[in-house]
Amino acid sequence: MKKHETDVLVIGAGPAGSIAAAMIHKAGYNVMVVEREKFPRFVIGESLLPRCMEVLSDAELLEAVKREKFQEKFGAKFMRGENEVADYNFADQFTKGWNWTWQVPRASFDLALATEVAAKGVPVSFETTVTDIKIMDDESSITTVQTKEGITEEIAAKFIVDASGYGRVIPRLFKLDKPSSLDPRKALFAHLADPNRDNFDEPNRIIIVSYAPGTWVWVIPFSNGNTSVGFVGSHDFFEQYKGSIEEQYNTLIEDHPYLRKRFGSATRIFEPRKLESWSSISEKFHGKGYVLTGNVTEFLDPIFSSGVMFATVSSHLASKLVIRKLDGKEVEWEKDYTHVLQSGVDTFRAFVTAWYDGTLEKIFYTKNPDPLIKRQICSVLAGYVWDLENPFVKEPTVALKRLVKYIDVREKFAPQS
Ligand code: FAD
Repeated sequence: MKKHETDVLVIGAGPAGSIAAAMIHKAGYNVMVVEREKFPRFVIGESLLPRCMEVLSDAELLEAVKREKFQEKFGAKFMRGENEVADYNFADQFTKGWNWTWQVPRASFDLALATEVAAKGVPVSFETTVTDIKIMDDESSITTVQTKEGITEEIAAKFIVDASGYGRVIPRLFKLDKPSSLDPRKALFAHLADPNRDNFDEPNRIIIVSYAPGTWVWVIPFSNGNTSVGFVGSHDFFEQYKGSIEEQYNTLIEDHPYLRKRFGSATRIFEPRKLESWSSISEKFHGKGYVLTGNVTEFLDPIFSSGVMFATVSSHLASKLVIRKLDGKEVEWEKDYTHVLQSGVDTFRAFVTAWYDGTLEKIFYTKNPDPLIKRQICSVLAGYVWDLENPFVKEPTVALKRLVKYIDVREKFAPQS
């Protein structure tokens, strides 16, 4: 059997895997990446947050992404009915940081990152699937992989970064999966040709359309002229739509005036697809000889486009700790990794909950919002969820509830026209 040796084995070549590989390689350690699929491959998650940019820059991957000329993203716009719009421009945000990012077809984005990682000298083995991992007493490991030719090989590593996303390699093998506290949801989505987009909205925003209570739509324009349009709601909501996935998707578009006008007759670039019950969580984010990064740790909900941000930020942080460990220094994983990551996840969890219970819609669509509060919320939407100067980061649930109470009182005594 063919055997390989490396300092760090990275499982998965999505954004989390590429960031880890680039960072650890930059520090002078040997890294190998194994990826189950052949790239480019489709994955959902196309709207990035500005907080990703710091990580891409530090991992020296930013220039490679710039070369792809993806659609720039300057903010997020929420729309309800014909007239209610809440536009969050990242340039107005409270926390100092990046004020733009990209909207990306992930097949191209992930390929650009993985290609750049390989160009730096990291071996990336595509169509190579992890099937088993054995951790030794000294924290080193032997990972069994199967190549596309069906050949079994072994990789001896001092440490493993599991960035396998929805594959959930270590949580599955080590039985770490636990149920999410969020309600299960479903998405129907497709990429559509969008030649008349200039008649509707600026392309440099993700648009979130409030479709029905608890149901919303993402509209993410790409620089190639296509736009990703996806519906997210409860299983019960989708139950009322009959027929094939394509028929359901077409009816959903037809039933909404804005979507009908913009996409009613649009060419479908691929047939609509569905995804369901994606929220997942792992019991722990690290263990003897491994750390989990990206979606494997926890994935909440797509509403605020936080997935790739957490994938990149968690991998960035984890890689620094892996390097520390390989340098022979002490690492306090729980304090320096889990708690840090968890605090950011908890802020978004509060926002996700407030979105589905209607609190955030009330805040977004109130007339004359307080400019400072809007800037603070904007920073959360940009992914700056570790800035404790921001009350919506420090105590998100309290701050959101307090704000809604204030809006209620204001509307009671000075009804909005
Ligand atoms: P992935 O991108 O999933 O990469 C993991 C890689 O590991 C894959 O390439 C996979 O092939 C590989 N792998 C899996 N198993 C194995 C194995 N056994 N051996 C080897 N390799 C393996 N996020 C956003 O930021 N913006 C959005 O707009 C957004 N929209 C979303 C919409 C929906 C409906 C859903 C469900 C999610 C959305 N997300 C969004 C979340 C986003 O998809 C993920 O958070 C993101 O892809 C996580 O990146 P990752 O690198 O952790 O994992």
